[in-house]
Amino acid sequence: MTAANHAGPVAAAGLAVTYQDIVAAAKRLAGVARQTPVLTSGQADRQADASVFFKCENFQRVGAFKFRGAYNAISCLSEEQKQRGVVAFSSGNHAQGMALAARMLGVHATIVMPSNAPAMKLAATREYGAEIILYDREREDREVIAARLSAERGCAVIPAYDHPDVIAGQGTAAKELFDAVGPLDYLFVCTGGGGLLSGCAIAAAHLSPDCIVIGVEPEAGNDVQQSLRSGNIVHIPVPDTIADGAQTQHVGKLVLPILQAYVKDIVTVSDDQLRTQMRFFAERMKIVVEPAGCLAAAAVMHRALAFAGAKVGVIVSGGNVDMALFANSIAAAKAFS
Ligand SMILES: *Cc1c(COP(=O)(O)O)cnc(C)c1O
Repeated sequence: MTAANHAGPVAAAGLAVTYQDIVAAAKRLAGVARQTPVLTSGQADRQADASVFFKCENFQRVGAFKFRGAYNAISCLSEEQKQRGVVAFSSGNHAQGMALAARMLGVHATIVMPSNAPAMKLAATREYGAEIILYDREREDREVIAARLSAERGCAVIPAYDHPDVIAGQGTAAKELFDAVGPLDYLFVCTGGGGLLSGCAIAAAHLSPDCIVIGVEPEAGNDVQQSLRSGNIVHIPVPDTIADGAQTQHVGKLVLPILQAYVKDIVTVSDDQLRTQMRFFAERMKIVVEPAGCLAAAAVMHRALAFAGAKVGVIVSGGNVDMALFANSIAAAKAFS
């Protein structure tokens, strides 16, 4: 393996997001997003055979990093657009991030959610003051609903990952990590649609140019791995995994060129490894982390690469997990031996 394979300023030309966009996003988020803690654990270091720094976005507002991108994207709209409101499609953390960010910025948010979304998530999104429109996943098409809403209301659609201001916002998580702990040898980041990974990779390339950035996705759906290795966006059916935050079917169009420029490779972890990691976080580090939030940590603690003795950063992406699923998962989990 060579050192980080990002091609530097040449590759950066033409990408949708620059490091300056992340700096601008960090200014907008200052005093608004939480500066989440960076935790360490002697037991984690021994298990990984490395010095591991966990950036804990499970402590972010709404319980996941999605608040960063949502707030940055809404902040970047013109006054006229803000008056017309925003719309998002999500049954997960993007819905809650958009709902809270919109309320804080005095913008009307419409969130389109499948009618069979978990009651807990519907309630949380409603609590943050968003208008919820339910649709039938079997019979209705989100694209048609989006087109109707933007025609009727003229509101801006803010996607969960394939948007420059969303990517820049997510990148502030890694910027904070490097600002706190200095350069790293490796950075592991989970990936669904790739908004978090692409933003964090841009921050790494500028703040720690020798850092090797690795994406982590569920074994059940390795579309990002296939996409990065082939250079084409690979589409897959909804992957069958407990990591519901990473069940996306393809990476974003803006995302893939950024991954090609700045990400070394993608590795995968199994649901059993996620359960073991969830248990480790709860038992040893006293934190609640959702399955997708365990992806990057699970890869590191199962020693996905030969990084003995290295300084390794891990983004812990979120902590929103149904308590029954959490209890079942940690009860069924094998501990690290
Ligand atoms: C959205 C989400 C992801 C995946 O993020 P992408 O930007 O789509 O790659 C991972 N973990 C959690 C907790 C999430 O909410």
